[in-house]
Order: sequence, then structure tokens, then C-alpha cells
Amino acid sequence: MSDIIQLLPDSVANQIAAGEVVQRPASAVKELIENAIDAGADKIQLIVKDAGKSLIQVIDNGCGMSGTDARMSFERHATSKIKKADDLFAIRTMGFRGEALASIAAIAQVELKTRRHEDELGTQLFIEASEVLKQEACSATPGTSISVKNLFYNIPARRNFLKSNPVEMRHIIDEFQRVALAHPEVFFTLHHDGQEVYHLPAVTLKQRIVHLLGNNYNQRLVPVEEDTTIIKLNGFVGKPEFARKTRGEQFFFVNNRFIKDAYLNHAVLTAFEELLPDESFPLYVLFIDIDPSKIDINVHPTKTEIKYQDEKAIYAIIRSAVKRSLGRYNITPSLDFDQ
Ligand code: ADP
Ligand code: MG
Repeated sequence: MSDIIQLLPDSVANQIAAGEVVQRPASAVKELIENAIDAGADKIQLIVKDAGKSLIQVIDNGCGMSGTDARMSFERHATSKIKKADDLFAIRTMGFRGEALASIAAIAQVELKTRRHEDELGTQLFIEASEVLKQEACSATPGTSISVKNLFYNIPARRNFLKSNPVEMRHIIDEFQRVALAHPEVFFTLHHDGQEVYHLPAVTLKQRIVHLLGNNYNQRLVPVEEDTTIIKLNGFVGKPEFARKTRGEQFFFVNNRFIKDAYLNHAVLTAFEELLPDESFPLYVLFIDIDPSKIDINVHPTKTEIKYQDEKAIYAIIRSAVKRSLGRYNITPSLDFDQ
């Protein structure tokens, strides 16, 4: 009998990888906005139609790409952000796996227009199911515009699995809010089906929180700041009397990356202790700055989990910093013990 093992064609490998990176329109939104951030953009426009099911477009004024790089950016494991294994422990960019564009292009119809500031002409590229249909020089403003159309059009089982537009839009807004909070210095807009949903000029973190989460938040925020040899911590926690019955306003960022972490979440909650009414969750937007060699973010393709070398110390630092901030702002429990 002849041998039977063969390498999968790239298009198939990309489609398999895409399943992990792109679960729904919001995952593509996250990847594309993160690319714009990594490109150094200070203006990022997100345009979606049909809750991202028919169109996700991200326009940035970042560094743009050369014609060759534009083509290369869609190859799997093609990245400008790391070069060798050691670099994995010095990551400061959002991306580094070189998978997002290859994955997205495997399961959608993609149009890329990009121009570097130093070039006179830009490049336009059309790619569908990993196949480049056309690439040509074109006039373009500096930066990059990428349109992702009909996500999962070639995987009906996946496309049919998408939730209703309001649900998919909620996921998109969640991702948009996370990046917008992490980058108050960037001007963001979000349009859905022709309507402007967000218009966020570059501001301070506090103002960004107010713009994103609600006008009356201005009076509700207590600053948190701590500088240790292990981490630098800064951000805001909400005053306990405004804690909500539902989760959804808890944001941890590690080196500017939104992270889900039940353990660190617990550190914040226990700092509030009896200040919180039962079963309620305070707002927080906290930024941990840490030496990238002390963490591993390569735990999962979506990069929302991190392994820390000094997990216990980080827990203790967060807990005591939040406690101190709450104490300094002289917050009394909302229960009135004098009655
Ligand atoms: P990664 O971000 O992990 O490097 P991606 O597949 O998301 O992988 O992107 C591949 C490469 O394409 C990036 O490393 C970057 O060089 C380039 N790129 C992607 N998006 C942009 C953009 N908006 N502006 C400039 N370059 C980009
Ligand atoms: Mg990327």
C-alpha cells in the first residue's frame, strides 16, 4: 500500500485555524481594530452592516503597507511583529501570531486598500476564500481600509449558527468598548447600518469611560494608582453605592490588552468587602503594566487569558491598592448603622 499522509492545502489549513480565531463577527472586529492600533493609528473608524454579517470595515490612518506586504499579510504565520521565539516574551503589540488576516480571508470576501505615508500610490487587493482575485496599484489616503464581507459565506453551518443581529451587535460593541477604553488617545467611531453608534474623540481615560459607559459616571469614579517592582497599576473603580446587580462593567487590561481573569476580579471584589451590597458588582477599569517576560499571553488564539509568574503578588497588590483608594475617598458603607 502507498503512504497516505499529506499536507493539507493552505486554504483548508486556514479554514481550520479560522474556526479558532474567528467565532463570530465580533472576533473579526477585535482582530482588525487591534491591527489598526498596532499600525500606530490615532483615528479608527469601524463600519458594520447587518451586525457584521454582511460587512465589517475598519479604516485607519496608521502606517499602511507596501504592495508586497499587503499580499504577504494574508499568509498564515505572516507577521511583522515578532521574528524569533524569544520575541514571544517581549510582546508589546496586540498581534503577534500572524493568523488573523489569513483566517478571516479564508472565510470571507476581503477587500484591502492600503498606502504607506511615504508612497505615492497605494495597493488594492481582493481576496476570497484564501484566493487572491486581484491586486493592483491605486490611489489611496495613507493608512489602511479593510472590508470583510459575508463572513462564513463558504461555511453555511457556521453562518447559520450566528445569533440574531442584536446579539451579534452586542458582542461587537463589547469588543469595541474594550479597545476604546484601552486607547483613549485614539479617535474612534462606530457606524451600524448607516447610523453613528459611537463618536469618541481622543480624551483622557476618565472622559473615555464617561463617554462610553454613561454621562453620570463622572462623579462615580475613584482613581487607583500603584507603582511596585512587579506591576504598575492605574485606572478607576466605581464607588460602591453605584454597583450594579449585573456584571459587564469590569475591565482588566494587561499591557493594554483586555483580559478575562476570575482570580484578579476576585482581588478587586474582596477589596470592596462589606462596602458592596450583596450580589452586586462594582465598575472597574484597571490597567496592569508588567514586564512582558513575566507573563505568557500565548495561552489561547484569542489572547484573552494570561499566565503570570507572580500571580499571588499581583493579587495582593491589586487588592491593597483598591482598598487604599476606596479608603482615601472616604467612602462609607451605604448601610446606615445609626438607625
Ligand atoms: P498579527 O497582527 O498577529 O501580526 P495579522 O494576520 O493580524 O497578524 O496581520 C498580519 C500583518 O499584516 C501584521 O503583522 C502587519 O504587519 C500587517 N497589518 C495588518 N493589518 C494592518 C493595518 N491595519 N495596518 C498596517 N499593517 C497591517
Ligand atoms: Mg493582528
